[in-house]
Amino acid sequence: MSGYVLPPPAQPSVPVAGNQARFAVRRIFCVGRNYAEHAREMGHDPDREPPFFFSKPTDALLTDGAELAYPPLTADLHFEAEMVIAIGQGGTGIAPGEALSHVWGCAAGVDFTRRDLQAEAKRLGRPWDMAKGFDGSAACGALNPVAQTGVPTRGAIRLEVDGDLRQQGDLAQMIWSVPEVIAHLSRLVALAPGDLIYTGTPSGVGAVARGETIRVEIEGLSALAVRVT
Ligand code: MN
Repeated sequence: MSGYVLPPPAQPSVPVAGNQARFAVRRIFCVGRNYAEHAREMGHDPDREPPFFFSKPTDALLTDGAELAYPPLTADLHFEAEMVIAIGQGGTGIAPGEALSHVWGCAAGVDFTRRDLQAEAKRLGRPWDMAKGFDGSAACGALNPVAQTGVPTRGAIRLEVDGDLRQQGDLAQMIWSVPEVIAHLSRLVALAPGDLIYTGTPSGVGAVARGETIRVEIEGLSALAVRVT
């Protein structure tokens, strides 16, 4: 072993509720338009077009209590409250009936989005990376181990900005369920321990300004709060 020419980057990770040890993160995948009302508010027909995925870099992670510096080159930073699932056992071609056994934990998250850059990318047929994968764009609260909480299939998902309710939905409104999401994604890539999957957002997405605090609550999971500065 001859080492590295520069020190290797820090291992991205998220905290685990009730545990000093953290969950090391390998990759971050996100599902687009997985709640019908949100698909409609973005101008699409939600009638079960196959799920589609995009990625964020793992060093875009932002954990509970952190501050998000308002990202450059946007005037329209949006929040999207989402349940995040963490993969504990990898696989390819995972059957929906087996998928939940691959989940290690669940968390409340926010898929932060430069909505203006995303709209431009859509119009020009360009990638979404700079609209979705900027520094701090992947907020993720403490993971709740499945061994303790299971994988919620229903229950309220809510987002508040400075105490004002902005998004309110139910996990049962997902077009593609968590097992179906895992099954689809595992046909596209080999899932492995450490992978996170953002499972989509209910309707009510909107802009957030500097100085505002975002709080996401999902029934049965640890809450997530981040402040935009
Ligand atoms: Mn999203």
